[in-house]
Amino acid sequence: MDSLALLDDRVAGCVACPRLVAWREEVGRTKRAAFQDWDYWARPVPGFGPADAPLLIIGLAPAAHGGNRTGRMFTGDRSGDVLYRALYDVGLASQPTSVSIDDGLELHGVRITAPVHCAPPENKPTPGERDACRPWLVQELKLLRPTLRAVVVLGAFGWQAALPAFAEAGWTVPRPRPAFGHGTRVPLDGLDLFGCFHVSQRNTFTGKLTPEMLRAVLRTAGEAAGLPVK
Ligand code: SF4
Repeated sequence: MDSLALLDDRVAGCVACPRLVAWREEVGRTKRAAFQDWDYWARPVPGFGPADAPLLIIGLAPAAHGGNRTGRMFTGDRSGDVLYRALYDVGLASQPTSVSIDDGLELHGVRITAPVHCAPPENKPTPGERDACRPWLVQELKLLRPTLRAVVVLGAFGWQAALPAFAEAGWTVPRPRPAFGHGTRVPLDGLDLFGCFHVSQRNTFTGKLTPEMLRAVLRTAGEAAGLPVK
């Protein structure tokens, strides 16, 4: 795989997980009432952002009526509203909203991806699906490596999925593996890995993750990546 664009293209055509293929397509057929006019993406959602990004954000998996509808990571759902608002506030996104693949949004030095590229039922991929999708993340990390300086992982699932991917992509990951925590910062062979609570509605509605907490992690990670943040 010699370019991120090619990787993204291949990811979007993946059919390796039968349960997720069936679910993403069924959701695309049945749709949510509010989105009946939409032609759902209903495929794996590739990473979003520049190929030379120094900062990578790793989530969990696309939402059924968010990324699985729009075809772009965290686009068209409440989690994305929170994430992109925060990225805009700290100067890492061109606009505060992300509603569709052609809305003009650009990320400044940031790429967003997930360890599982298909929307899972109940937002819960199985361990087998997580492992099946890992080679895509490993390839993505290898392609980003020349510029990558900092990574923010959203939530414990992403953290547990990301560490083996970093190891497979050639980074030296400490043993025992560092535990996930909000605000955790782990140096990893030339980059800094940050833990952050996931931007799920459960976390943001309850105040477990506030906009200020999210901005603080993004600001620190952006500085670690050498990006101009505010
Ligand atoms: S979750 Fe990953 S490995 Fe499974 S079908 Fe989707 S893109 Fe392929």
